[in-house]
Amino acid sequence: SFKAIVIRKGEAGQTVGLADFDESELMEGDVTLRVEWSTVNYKDGLAVTGKAPVVRRFPMIAGIDAAGTVETSNHPDWKPGDRVVVNGWGCGETHLGFYAEKARVKGDWLVPLPAGLEARDAMAIGTAGYTAMLAVLALERHGLTPDRGPAVVTGAAGGVGSVAVAILARLGWTVIASTGRPEEADYLKELGAAEVIARQELAEKVRPLAKERWAAGVDSVGSTTLANVLSMTRYGGAIAACGLAGGMDLPTSVAPFILRGVALLGVDSVMCPQHLRREAWQRLDTDLDRRKLAKMTEEIGLDGVVEAGRRIVEGQVRGRIVVKIG
Ligand code: NAP
Repeated sequence: SFKAIVIRKGEAGQTVGLADFDESELMEGDVTLRVEWSTVNYKDGLAVTGKAPVVRRFPMIAGIDAAGTVETSNHPDWKPGDRVVVNGWGCGETHLGFYAEKARVKGDWLVPLPAGLEARDAMAIGTAGYTAMLAVLALERHGLTPDRGPAVVTGAAGGVGSVAVAILARLGWTVIASTGRPEEADYLKELGAAEVIARQELAEKVRPLAKERWAAGVDSVGSTTLANVLSMTRYGGAIAACGLAGGMDLPTSVAPFILRGVALLGVDSVMCPQHLRREAWQRLDTDLDRRKLAKMTEEIGLDGVVEAGRRIVEGQVRGRIVVKIG
């Protein structure tokens, strides 16, 4: 058996904790991994707290992200010793996840660890950082470049937000970071933000159109915040929607779309196809400053995961958390 963060469902509801898990209970898959590092994302927080019904199978090993080494493989692309990254595909939701020393998955889900990244770096990035990169790729596919105007990042001091600020700044964008934590202004400037604005500015009642402030954006908040961001987007600009930290609704109008040609670009990390995943990880290798990544990362062990999950759903985590396994 091995140690894992196990979520069980009983008559009194959901329980979660560090427990022994028997290898014979691992689910099917053609690759067995030794998990070395994982991380805590917002979704992991929802899973371990039970705040939203993320987990669809019990018992569940929580954890949607892993970096580690292939131990055994029946998949033609992978052999023992290969260094890999895996996230999404329902892991930690419907398939046993990665807060564990061992995992069994489909080889088709794996991405090779990029040559320039350590396993720990890959998990400092994690789903949050890879999603930020998917958002930047979506803006680029739309043809947007830094000369078109500034880029706004909402939920900027969170995981997706911190990585988005660092990448956009590195690519030459003038970054406007929106945060509910004014005390993090210096942190956000260190990551590359040119300007820090208060979350409240984007939380007021939405007008169909407002003064044009940015050409692009990465939004991890949703709801009124995203609606305001859209109403303030310059003619021909685009916003990549990644998250719902402020709510699942979107109280917008068609005005930004039909009067300013603004585009809303959807970003999903979970079922994202392999070619895009590999492109995102390659770009993370080249376009994310490792010193900035180190600045935004805190390290915990498996025994700290549940508490970190509680903190992240309360919006109290700054940047990223890596989890050392074993
Ligand atoms: P996180 O670290 O908790 O970041 C979320 C940030 O949003 C917080 O740090 C906070 O930033 C802000 N925020 C929190 N509650 C808020 C509220 N009520 N109103 C306005 N702002 C609020 O979480 P994460 O891991 O980066 O994930 C961010 C979001 O993206 C989550 O909704 C997550 O589910 C989603 N996500 C989606 C995908 C996908 O595949 N589409 C992948 C990864 C994550 P400030 O303190 O700076 O304001």
